[in-house]
Amino acid sequence: MPSSLPSTSSNAEDQVRATLDTRSWIGFDLDDTLHEFRKASCAATAHCLTLIAQGHLNISREAVQARYQEALRQGTSNAFVDGKTSHDYRRDRFSATLDHFGLGQGLIDDLITSYERVLVQNLTLKPGAVSLLRAIKSSGRRIVVITEGPQDAQERALRDLGISEYVDFLATTNHFGVSKTSGLFLKVLDQLAIQAHEIAYVGDSIERDIAPATAEGIYAIHLDEKQSSRLTQEPVTINSLVVLESLV
Ligand SMILES: [Mg+2]
Repeated sequence: MPSSLPSTSSNAEDQVRATLDTRSWIGFDLDDTLHEFRKASCAATAHCLTLIAQGHLNISREAVQARYQEALRQGTSNAFVDGKTSHDYRRDRFSATLDHFGLGQGLIDDLITSYERVLVQNLTLKPGAVSLLRAIKSSGRRIVVITEGPQDAQERALRDLGISEYVDFLATTNHFGVSKTSGLFLKVLDQLAIQAHEIAYVGDSIERDIAPATAEGIYAIHLDEKQSSRLTQEPVTINSLVVLESLV
């Protein structure tokens, strides 16, 4: 094949494999990278908003949802760097929503318990996650999960998803006190006592994973399930974790 043609997919795979070969750590974002966070949190939220709207004919489900979304937007704008627990954040959001409709706080404990129960019921790993993590571990490499979120919730998520045993280190914004876009990746490198060229990192967000990791010199792989090709470059993008398993 003439060398002026764009690299074939197998070429691209060889390049990624060669780069990954030189890394002793593989990092992962957690939410919507290793598991279906959005689906689980949507199910938990939907359940709770219905509980709030139930029995109040003058309060529409849509109005409750709009008010809750506003509380969520305000409460998570700092990317969980203020050290509160997941229950504190949820309490704040539900409390603000109940207050807005003058409903009192009688339902609050029930909402917090229900949210956690429905969230856990809906936790689902991304296709290929476990066998990928296993393949990485059996290749002798170590795994770090780097995630924005409350430390307690992310520890529970790893446990409830059944993947704690594969994770050598869990780094949360909440524990380190900085967001991904304001220095978390550098703090993690310091914590692990490694340099940027010793790790590759996989995440689903260009803005919050790929851009800040790349800015620290980390080889970053974008997970984009909407992409039709298995693997594209610049930035390296895979459409499933299954693709990565064949490259580690
Ligand atoms: Mg994510």
